[in-house]
Amino acid sequence: MADIAIGIHGGCGTLAKDLLSEKDWAETRQHLADSLRAGWTIVKKGGRSVEAVEAAIVVMENSPHFNAGHGAALTENADHELDASIMDGATLGAGAICAVRTIRNPIKAARAVMEKSDLLLITGQPADDFARRVGLDIVPNSYFTTQRRVDALASLKAKAERQEIAMASEAERHGTVGAVALDAKGNLAAGTSTGGFNNKPVGRVGDSPIIGAGTYAANGSCAVSCTGMGEIFIRRVAAYDVSARMRYAGKGLREAADAVIAAVGSHKIGAGLVSVDAGGKVYAPFNTLGMARGWIEADGKVYVATHQDVHEMGAA
Ligand code: ASP
Repeated sequence: MADIAIGIHGGCGTLAKDLLSEKDWAETRQHLADSLRAGWTIVKKGGRSVEAVEAAIVVMENSPHFNAGHGAALTENADHELDASIMDGATLGAGAICAVRTIRNPIKAARAVMEKSDLLLITGQPADDFARRVGLDIVPNSYFTTQRRVDALASLKAKAERQEIAMASEAERHGTVGAVALDAKGNLAAGTSTGGFNNKPVGRVGDSPIIGAGTYAANGSCAVSCTGMGEIFIRRVAAYDVSARMRYAGKGLREAADAVIAAVGSHKIGAGLVSVDAGGKVYAPFNTLGMARGWIEADGKVYVATHQDVHEMGAA
């Protein structure tokens, strides 16, 4: 039996500590811990890593604190277009949806594409229709909106008007959630879900639903979910690059992941990822002020963090 493990991220667009109340930070940490436990419970019982990844992401999609599902970023039209993908490292099966507007939990739709269709990526209204057909929860687009995103959009639009967009913080701009897991059979999986970035043009799709860019998993090497300006992650084929460096250059997970964050970061963007290797080691590097993240490894302890300091949240 392999060691089991789960790792998550809640995006590298973390706010400076003083911009949120301690109550909100505590709730963010609690939701990270809830997400980890939701996934861990599944792999602990012998369930599949794909199921664990989905369960962990659903918790973060339902939380207002992350840019995915409820609490997702707003487009330039002040509504939401959501992207998600999932990959099974055992089979290299994958599913994704992009620019969807009414699916309560986009990660469930990504998994349904993988398991209930012959396709890999479905876009826009047909993806919303597919989700409805397979029985997923459908919500009005306004379900995803929170006051924090409305304020961030107003602030970004004001900065854009004053031509000060370069001064917008990572947190005002974007975020994403992701999960990786290793189950007792040694199967790896990864998933990612996002609202993209605030004030994004309608129709823009980033790396999160693109297999190899925002999400990748292959048994024997690693599972990876990325966060940061998707255009660069697609150009760098970032998630796959971590796995390729391990496979072809014989690197360990840390070295491979650090090299990819450096490569992506060389484009002067904030970047982060969460990854797990075939031995159950989780690694979540980032080059920003902070990145919401968490992990449970073989010792069964729950660790979460938003900035540099790591909090132990008890046994899984
Ligand atoms: N990668 C996401 C995107 O480009 C955004 C993010 O992770 O910050 O849509």
